[in-house]
Amino acid sequence: MNVFIVYAHPEPKSFNGGLFRTAVEVLRAAGHEVRASDLYAMGFDPLSSRRSFLTVKDPDYFKPQIEETHASEVGGFAPDVAEEMAKLEWCDLMIWQFPLWWFGPPAILKGWVDRVFAMGRIYGYGHIYETGRLRGKRALLSLTTGGPAAAYVKGGFNGDIDGILRPIHRGMLQFVGFEVLAPHIVYGPVRLEEAERLAILERYAERLRRIVEESPIEVGEY
Ligand code: FAD
Repeated sequence: MNVFIVYAHPEPKSFNGGLFRTAVEVLRAAGHEVRASDLYAMGFDPLSSRRSFLTVKDPDYFKPQIEETHASEVGGFAPDVAEEMAKLEWCDLMIWQFPLWWFGPPAILKGWVDRVFAMGRIYGYGHIYETGRLRGKRALLSLTTGGPAAAYVKGGFNGDIDGILRPIHRGMLQFVGFEVLAPHIVYGPVRLEEAERLAILERYAERLRRIVEESPIEVGEY
């Protein structure tokens, strides 16, 4: 299986860094081909701008979707975007490794989506959700939080984690055709003992070794 891991954390020694390296090592050892985008290390530009394109459709008014559609028709994406699109289209499974920041992905990862999930090439013209261009592929969110698990349930301090993840699961991943696996969530790793964190890494490794056997989840309305 081809696995594409998108990793968004500014500190390599973070627990996210540990989860990222675990996934790369375990999946390669299991015989899968792994490609990764370490967005901070790459200095990935998260800004949607004309720098995403080699081509120009409308020089007077920058409308991303118009430029994306044109670039899709003529092969006009800038190399940094085109390389990410190629990894996206190559993979069977995509994993996002990130810390929950303000109830969402870090801006660098959201900006990656803004630029890489382009109209024409990745979605649009009748190709959304079940008819999405990336159908047949699966996606897994692997994230960490600061808050404890008890804060992320219905009626809890922060509310149900499924509702918090819905904009990503439904609005980004399923929108372009991915099927979604149950998210891997580590609540408050900083509050845990070292031994507990090591056990979490081992359980994640165990899950990844058998990831091909998993079925997608339903994403509710909330
Ligand atoms: P780290 O602090 O890097 O690591 C935790 C511990 O694990 C450290 O002691 C580290 O040394 C240790 N460790 C690292 N690698 C390993 C390893 N391989 N094995 C064992 N131990 C290891 N939280 C929320 O709940 N909701 C929010 O909306 C939210 N918004 C935020 C917004 C911003 C801008 C920021 C900066 C934080 C926010 N947080 C929020 C908190 C954030 O989600 C957590 O700080 C983050 O998820 C913790 O993950 P980490 O990888 O950064 O942990």
